[in-house]
Amino acid sequence: MKRRAVVALESGGTKLVASLTDERGEVLDHLRVARPVTNQAAQTLRQLIGMGRALRQRWEGEGWQVEGLGFGFGGLVRRCRQEAYLCLHEHGWEHVDARRELEGVFGVPVFIENDCKVAALAEAKRGAGRGAESMFYATIGTGVGGGFVVGGRIQSLHDGGEAEIGHLCAEVGGPSCGCGGRGCIEALCSGPGMWALGRHRFENAQAIFGAWEQGDSEATEIVERCAGHMARALGAVMALLHPRRIVLGGGVASGNPKYVDRIRELTNDLVVSYFRPEFDLRVAELGELVVSQGAALFALAQMEQRRSEPCLVVN
Ligand SMILES: [Zn+2]
Repeated sequence: MKRRAVVALESGGTKLVASLTDERGEVLDHLRVARPVTNQAAQTLRQLIGMGRALRQRWEGEGWQVEGLGFGFGGLVRRCRQEAYLCLHEHGWEHVDARRELEGVFGVPVFIENDCKVAALAEAKRGAGRGAESMFYATIGTGVGGGFVVGGRIQSLHDGGEAEIGHLCAEVGGPSCGCGGRGCIEALCSGPGMWALGRHRFENAQAIFGAWEQGDSEATEIVERCAGHMARALGAVMALLHPRRIVLGGGVASGNPKYVDRIRELTNDLVVSYFRPEFDLRVAELGELVVSQGAALFALAQMEQRRSEPCLVVN
């Protein structure tokens, strides 16, 4: 008897990833390419399809059967229609029907969700959120995104787009953001946003962290400014949602545990006093395939739900 597998696709800020997982969402194999700067949606989708097909071919020859596909999309998703429709760093998603194309090629049910939301799901089930009934996840990398998971399910309050911590305003009239606003958390605290604050002296955000750890005063000013913004945003998350745990992922957070320590310290002072004893902020555990794992777990949960409640709309 063939073993059940799922294909998981990711279109991130800097990379495209296709993975093949078993029916528990464990990644068996993956392919990864850097995202070319000039990419357009149709081209990205073609590339992802090619990578997914290559994995399927490789593993179906070994006795595995692909039964579903999850897509962790780096942009906004219209959940009810399962549409990937807006990406802030790539044009054209509004003109391609990703779900239909993927279903046409793979011949299996396709489930699309925002990349941060599925990463949150993976951390909640398999990573730093294990054991917490509710978990708010924020990723700090190329952008800043969020997801809220309660009882093992992504909390969806509307047709997609909730928990967008990256677009809270941190500095009125501050640097412009891809969303059209100014002074957003993402414009200041993402890797590129931080780097923009010290571009005249530092090679990238990581160089700022390196200089910070050496006690450089300008780097310290930038890191403190960003940590302060993150702390105020997370303090607000605690007041609004009171998650039992907060998990910070993405390259900027996962690669700089001392920065997460500083954010924790500053947030702790801002958390509503009666929630403070329960305040619990951790670094993500799952590493760079977190979106793949999450997209697969999301697809598997949706497939299970479809089997038991065939008429229910996604999520
Ligand atoms: Zn914004």
